[in-house]
Amino acid sequence: MQHVYDMIIIGGGPAGYTAALYGARAGLDVIVLEKMAPGGQMTLTGQIDNYPGFEEGIDGFTLGMKMQQGAERFGARTVQAEVLSMDLKFHIKEIRTAEEVYHGKTVVIATGADPRALEVPGEQELRGRGIHYCAHCDGFFYRGKTVVVVGGGNSAVADALYLSRVAEKVILVHRRDELRATKVYQEQLKDAENVEICWNSAVEEIIYEDKVKGVKLRDTQSGEIREISCDGVFVSIGRNPVTGLLEGQLLLDEGGYIVAGENTETSISGVFAAGDVRSKALRQVVTAVADGAVAVHFAEGYLRGEA
Ligand code: NAP
Repeated sequence: MQHVYDMIIIGGGPAGYTAALYGARAGLDVIVLEKMAPGGQMTLTGQIDNYPGFEEGIDGFTLGMKMQQGAERFGARTVQAEVLSMDLKFHIKEIRTAEEVYHGKTVVIATGADPRALEVPGEQELRGRGIHYCAHCDGFFYRGKTVVVVGGGNSAVADALYLSRVAEKVILVHRRDELRATKVYQEQLKDAENVEICWNSAVEEIIYEDKVKGVKLRDTQSGEIREISCDGVFVSIGRNPVTGLLEGQLLLDEGGYIVAGENTETSISGVFAAGDVRSKALRQVVTAVADGAVAVHFAEGYLRGEA
């Protein structure tokens, strides 16, 4: 006989493990399917200072482990596996991995969002060898060197600030003439003496031989092309939601995020979206954990037949 879980959680980031904690504490039979390490994108963050309760801040990897252990203390189980397909339309939902098929009465999708690529020549070839997507993970390699950071949002500016403490010089390349990042970050950027900003500049190509030598930039106003030298490039231009398997099943917004309100309910009953994968205004660890708790609250109502 097939085992039917009360709740299958896909993704072991802050949203997924908060759902697991709340679900397990509520006595639900919960399983988390995670393809990598616990913590999701958070594991790529060296220092998290805006998650309350850690007065000195905490690194994302440790916080991810703590969240997993907290959920497992109450009986939530984790299986390390990549989900290959989902069939959500029936009352009992079916989730397939390479090894197994899981059945659940409810599903919480907490798959998060992956870093966006520039999609320019040279990027794929040098990925991980000069082209990076996580300053806190790979910045260390650029002590005393020159790096380019691409983007104009909070992530790009946070990365530029972090790298300014490691590298000798940071060049922030942004396609417009104003940053999207919040004022606090912009003020800090003004004080960072070794950060230079290339405004109205789009990366056209990575210049490399066996390693990165620079980037080719196009002036987004004049169209003029120029080259700048650097030892590494950090791409920080936002993220893509991990919803490829859901196309045609769940309602997604134009950015590919799952359409679900603050109650995390998706277009299919019994399926909830929590964390960065949900269409929302603010994607942070605190908003992800809030989603995880809310998803369980509404999933319990659904399981009791109230929805
Ligand atoms: P974001 O806010 O979407 O910013 C992406 C940036 O990359 C924008 O400046 C955008 O330019 C640029 N961009 C997008 N596609 C590009 C392309 N193909 N080529 C060149 N540039 C491109 O993404 P984010 O900075 O990763 O932040 C994501 C979310 O996390 C936000 O809600 C942010 O507030 C939050 N966050 C918060 C903190 C914090 O508060 N501590 C830290 C990091 C992130 P345009 O401006 O021209 O669109």
